[in-house]
Amino acid sequence: MYQDVALFIDGAWTAASGNRTIDVVNPATGEAIGKVAHADRGDLDRALEAADRGFRQWRKVSAFDRSKLMRKAADILRSRADAIATLLTMEQGKPLVEAKGEVLAGADVIDWFAEEARRAYGRVIPARAEGVYQLVVKEPVGPVAAFTPWNFPINQVVRKLSAALAAGCSIIVKAPEETPASPAELIRAFADAGVPAGVINLVYGVPAEISEYLIPHPVIRKMSFTGSTAVGKQLAAIAGAHMKRVTMELGGHAPAIVFDDADVAQASKLLAGFKYRNAGQVCISPTRMLVQEKVYDQFVEGFLEQTKRVKVGDGLESGTSMGPLANTRRIAAMEGFIGDAQQKGARIQTGGNRIGNKGNFFEPTVLTDVPMDARVMHEEPFGPLAIISRFSGFDDVVAEANRLPYGLASYAFTRSAKTANAIANQVEAGMMTINHIGLALPEVPFGGVKDSGYGSEGGSEAIEAYLNTKFVTQAGL
Ligand code: NAD
Repeated sequence: MYQDVALFIDGAWTAASGNRTIDVVNPATGEAIGKVAHADRGDLDRALEAADRGFRQWRKVSAFDRSKLMRKAADILRSRADAIATLLTMEQGKPLVEAKGEVLAGADVIDWFAEEARRAYGRVIPARAEGVYQLVVKEPVGPVAAFTPWNFPINQVVRKLSAALAAGCSIIVKAPEETPASPAELIRAFADAGVPAGVINLVYGVPAEISEYLIPHPVIRKMSFTGSTAVGKQLAAIAGAHMKRVTMELGGHAPAIVFDDADVAQASKLLAGFKYRNAGQVCISPTRMLVQEKVYDQFVEGFLEQTKRVKVGDGLESGTSMGPLANTRRIAAMEGFIGDAQQKGARIQTGGNRIGNKGNFFEPTVLTDVPMDARVMHEEPFGPLAIISRFSGFDDVVAEANRLPYGLASYAFTRSAKTANAIANQVEAGMMTINHIGLALPEVPFGGVKDSGYGSEGGSEAIEAYLNTKFVTQAGL
């Protein structure tokens, strides 16, 4: 059922010009399930020419018509959700229900940006002289280069693609080589909806070769990257040297703060449920559970109870609530973090080990009493690993939440409106969700501060990132 994945350049599915391919591996079995085309310089040049032509054509399509085509793509995607979800699970590992949710959420993202396409308003500024019109006009920034990772193969592409198309930009997507089929199906939905050739181009290959060629290229006017902070900094530096617009959605190490006046049972249930979604390979995953002393034991007990209910298995099997890790690098990372923490005195409350030796299965893991010098207290675990620590007072927990250079998601639980306001105000993060899990809807901003990046991938801010502001002032003759 899994088919080899081609490049999509200038409206055609095509093998790489050098016929090179890379294997795609199912993380639940460790077996190769297909191949993905591996672009070389000639393919990138063709994609650049197509994106340049595509942009000149697409920018002339009215916002009304762009919106209609996008909505059609969303409907096509919904109608293919079951088949695409199966591909997604086979290549990425997440449970089928999560994969289907990702496809359907992708369709919602397209619809939302299709609506925003029609509302990219400019404005008229009152003039100082009679007969003068001062206009602020929004124009598409131009061809975009987008680089997306393997943890949400559809979601990470659809946010960039939909915002770009809504604004009137063309795009070259460098989608993840490890999970290529589901983003290709997303792009097929747009092509089948009738988006003109050249407006969307899709390539795979060696990430650094592609980014180092595309970002500086004069055709490309903006780049958007989702991935690790280390790579993000390298790409932002290239973009800076060539004065390209940038959106960066990078790593996190989210604090989840539970005050002693919170509904502790609810907090432990929600946070543990969210922790193991996509096996913790989520940039907004709650990582540091910071729990006030009085309710610490109750929280740990509730969190462990939820953790032990997680059923690890092949994402295609019904009843699986957590699939394998997406690649063997994550297994090595988990073992490294846990071994280091344990050696420095941390207690493993549950989990801690790889499961079997076929596929990348790993136990949902909870660590307590983790000393500050453990690596996992500083680096993003990006896996099914939760740390639970105690705090005593408000100022201590704010200091701990803000200790790291990351600032993406944050969570808090309290019944006090005063505490809720104060914590939202003091935590350095791009997003905070209080007493529920409410992040990442298409209509709300999504992005970080500090080393977690800049720009937004949701809300009306997201389309702004693909628009230039032009000022036109005109006097009557
Ligand atoms: P990595 O840092 O090598 O790669 C992360 C992503 O960036 C991948 O999709 C990769 O293809 C891409 N990439 C790497 N080098 C690139 C380059 N020079 N140009 C363009 N793209 C490039 O490591 P990894 O093992 O794939 O992932 C590990 C870490 O990445 C995780 O621990 C996590 O911190 C981060 N990550 C974050 C997200 C996110 O949603 N923010 C998603 C995936 C990975």
